[in-house]
Amino acid sequence: MFGAMQDVPLLVNRILDHALVNHPEREIVSRLVEGNIHRETYADAHLRSRKLSQALQALGFGQGDVLATLAWNTHRHFEAWYGITGIGGVYHTLNPRLFAEQLSYIINHAGDKVIFTDLTFVPILEGIEKEIPNVKGFIIMTDAAHMPETTLSNVHCYEDLIDGQSGDFNWVEVDERAPCGMCYTSGTTGNPKGVCYTHRSNVLHTLVGNSSDVIGLRSVDSLLPVVPLFHANAWGLAFGAPAVGAKIVNPGPNMDGESIYQLLTEEKVTFTAAVPTVWLMLMQHLENNKLDLPDLETVVIGGSAVPRVMLEKFERDYGVSVKHAWGMTEMSPLGTIASFKAGMENMTFDEQMDIKVKQGRPPYLMEMKITDDDGNELPRDGKAFGHLMVRGPFVVGEYIKGDGGQILDEDGFFDTGDVATIDPLGFMQITDRSKDVIKSGGEWISSIEIENIAVGHEKVQEAAVIGIAHPKWDERPLLVVIKNEGAEVSKEEILGYLEGKIAKWWMPDDVVFVDEIPHTATGKIQKLTLRQQFEDYKLPTAEAVAE
Ligand code: ADP
Repeated sequence: MFGAMQDVPLLVNRILDHALVNHPEREIVSRLVEGNIHRETYADAHLRSRKLSQALQALGFGQGDVLATLAWNTHRHFEAWYGITGIGGVYHTLNPRLFAEQLSYIINHAGDKVIFTDLTFVPILEGIEKEIPNVKGFIIMTDAAHMPETTLSNVHCYEDLIDGQSGDFNWVEVDERAPCGMCYTSGTTGNPKGVCYTHRSNVLHTLVGNSSDVIGLRSVDSLLPVVPLFHANAWGLAFGAPAVGAKIVNPGPNMDGESIYQLLTEEKVTFTAAVPTVWLMLMQHLENNKLDLPDLETVVIGGSAVPRVMLEKFERDYGVSVKHAWGMTEMSPLGTIASFKAGMENMTFDEQMDIKVKQGRPPYLMEMKITDDDGNELPRDGKAFGHLMVRGPFVVGEYIKGDGGQILDEDGFFDTGDVATIDPLGFMQITDRSKDVIKSGGEWISSIEIENIAVGHEKVQEAAVIGIAHPKWDERPLLVVIKNEGAEVSKEEILGYLEGKIAKWWMPDDVVFVDEIPHTATGKIQKLTLRQQFEDYKLPTAEAVAE
């Protein structure tokens, strides 16, 4: 027997339809690659997306075709997602920070038929065009006046394409389980792996993300999504904003402190989201110029752990509430958020920061457990470390083309590759990526925790902890530090600062100062490269054992 409610499919284009009917006047503001600020409304974006759908059909594209974007966050990139899904196509975001070989690998693997590109990235595509023979054309996201000279073949101008259409178009209706979007992980080891979202998974993720204990975006918000559309499905914001009618302020190519500050103040941004490195740049700009953030209410920080010092500055110095989030491309990407439970709002500031520095708790529709190496579930006592496993309707079931084989355990849980604790209140804390854990004397040391404490030192700009082989303990931690510009600080000073803040046996065996720490295409510390750099490094404690 079935119930008798309407079976309306969960399709992302209906989110934009909702915005058209209920929030047509709400603005989408974009800083463009061409340099100017562009303004349009959700009504404009809806019309232009429909025109783009028509143009794509006229070019011969249709249901199931994968059409890629290599672009910054602008209104055109936003429209491209809806224009592509509007013909039943699949948007595929390419990360321009990847190496050229990785990009061509991903483009070929995904079967991309067209690439939408910003002017900025035309040279990258010119460089790899010969390697991507199945791509049938390129759409340059600009107007006729700014079209570049290019060696690319089959080039179209975005504005010309849509100018030629009437907009008299109905979205192609697909099954809610049809492919909707694609995003590849950055593949720090081996080839990148692809995740294919469905309309249904994106819509469910939007509903969960917009609930108040999660991202909690509201209609009254002015949202600055600094997190790029090409980073992990833009954390769901390209669907979340039109679903509530929030104003969108797109940063385009400029993510430095000054440019972000300008948009935050000029567009009265109340809500923003980005990885910690972006906020580091903003804070330096604020401190150097003695500036405030009067309009900003909430900042979502994820992608890497939030250093406690950053969390405290936002909350105490600038009066901005931090939502620390954890997730991954494979999870659409939201997994947890550190929002309070009953009673926590009355805790002391320090107690509250102890909670917010954790990655947080899962919303409904996200299940989570930690397991040992044999797959046995570990206790939720805040102490046991284990492999973090997740299950839910917006978690990956398999990678594109079955890469990596069976990726779920027998209960349908996906191994995130992260190592974490879960406390009795349900708050999860990441201690490491499983491939980065430091095993010392059979126990695990959390590199992330040491890093986050180390960057609290006023003379430390960035810190990374890696395991170095040790004859007695198997591995011991080495702390790699970038000093603040012009600062003088010694190894002893830094170790002294850590004393009492971490367990004695976690204390790094040595501290080295460097000018640069390598980062991945999504702004994370590249531990693998760092370990390779320090492959031959001998810890002073190792020499003592050897003698
Ligand atoms: P990519 O793998 O392409 O860099 P993802 O954003 O999918 O991009 O990376 C997901 C990984 O990022 C997680 O598995 C986790 O290791 C790390 N991560 C994300 N958010 C946090 C966070 N708040 N704290 C610590 N690590 C995080």
